[in-house]
Amino acid sequence: MFTAHCPHEQQNVLLNLSSIETMRKVPDGFAVTFVCTCGHRGTTHMSRMGRSLRNPSPTEGL
Ligand SMILES: [Zn+2]
Repeated sequence: MFTAHCPHEQQNVLLNLSSIETMRKVPDGFAVTFVCTCGHRGTTHMSRMGRSLRNPSPTEGL
């Protein structure tokens, strides 16, 4: 699970990793394109050192 900002709902949403459409390598992490549960696409950034990818917390974002 990870949190991302949905541009349609204009709020942070909690998504499954299966919601990730593409991950593009950028110098300081990944640019992630996701499909939100509402059906709209958005992009978010995951830091290479960030908790989102390497060490997710079950309570993060709740
Ligand atoms: Zn949404």
